Amino acid sequence: MRKLKGDFVFPISGAPVKDGVVLLDDDEKVVSVEKNGQFDPAEVESFHGVLCPGFVNSHCHLELSFMKQQIPEKTGLKEFVKTVVAIRDNFTEEVQQNAIESAEREMVENGIVAVGDISNDTRSFDRKSQGNLRYHTFVEVFDLGPENTLKAFETGKKVFKKVPQENQSTASMTPHAPYSCTPDLYWLVDKFTARYGGMISIHNQENIDENKLFLEKKGIWADLFDEWGLDHSWFQPTGKNSLPSTLENIKNTKKVVNIHNTFTTRNDIDWAKAHVPEAFWCFCPNANLFIENTLPDFPEFMEESAQCVVGTDSLASNWQLSVLEELKVIEANAPQIPMDDLLSWATLNGAKLLDFDQDLGSLEAGKKPGINLIENMDLDTMKLTTSARVKKIA
Ligand SMILES: [Zn+2]
Repeated sequence: MRKLKGDFVFPISGAPVKDGVVLLDDDEKVVSVEKNGQFDPAEVESFHGVLCPGFVNSHCHLELSFMKQQIPEKTGLKEFVKTVVAIRDNFTEEVQQNAIESAEREMVENGIVAVGDISNDTRSFDRKSQGNLRYHTFVEVFDLGPENTLKAFETGKKVFKKVPQENQSTASMTPHAPYSCTPDLYWLVDKFTARYGGMISIHNQENIDENKLFLEKKGIWADLFDEWGLDHSWFQPTGKNSLPSTLENIKNTKKVVNIHNTFTTRNDIDWAKAHVPEAFWCFCPNANLFIENTLPDFPEFMEESAQCVVGTDSLASNWQLSVLEELKVIEANAPQIPMDDLLSWATLNGAKLLDFDQDLGSLEAGKKPGINLIENMDLDTMKLTTSARVKKIA
């Protein structure tokens, strides 16, 4: 039995406990969260800071870790995508595997216990099969036109079959983004994912021109298809924003997580509420700063009682893989969001999204969520400040 005491304990399932003590059994499962005082100080491990459950990174691309420091910052999404496509196959297998290994280690050290991770192919699977983290792998597909739809779907099915299941890891198939998939591919993926009880993740409204494409078939995506010489005659603008245009193709899968949401409007949030049984909204603010230097309107999602989660995106578009660093950006830009909510986004909401909340996300008896210590917080204001750091202590 371990007894871990913090200045505050955030169980997430209930109100924060001042001078709380987390009791863990020998298997590191939570027994209870208690007030201090009833324990002999000699048997308590005391920490200065906040104790909370392990973090859930709801959006990452572990397989792109080798692109760290390879892509220029703040050039916009079109240039970013072009560079990723251009350099994706320029690195040796050894360089890629070493980068994946060190990225995973970085996540573990930063108190991450589970990851919603995108895989377009199998290159991260050796590492995932080590079982160091619990993964939900989103096997991502895109077709860019009807001539590629069946091939994309068949490739996705082959990757799906190979997803490692160590450490209770799971998988589902998912479409990449509104601008890169045809309605037929949505139809196939939706049916496949609903049959296997999974969830769908879509890169959503990361750039203002995504709406422009669906409203009037203009903007950077229309330009990029022309640059790449793709026949885009199949694409019909809907006259609506990209979110309703895309999600109306998802008819069977109950749970959808929208990634980025930088240009999502209140109407889009309302539309998702009315049409998606379980809509989640994932923020990866450092990636938004890295690529577009723009951030979502976080308070708007709070006002709409949206279910928010936090992701790091990949090292192609981030300086590190740390959920805490993402929270710092959100807090700096929306200081009115309470710490309670921020930590819920980073823990229990992510666990619910990935269907890992039986075991992870809160300090409830019987769960084995991992314990993080957040140091250097301002405990009077409950703000992270820039110097806050996380240590995994269980
Ligand atoms: Zn992404």
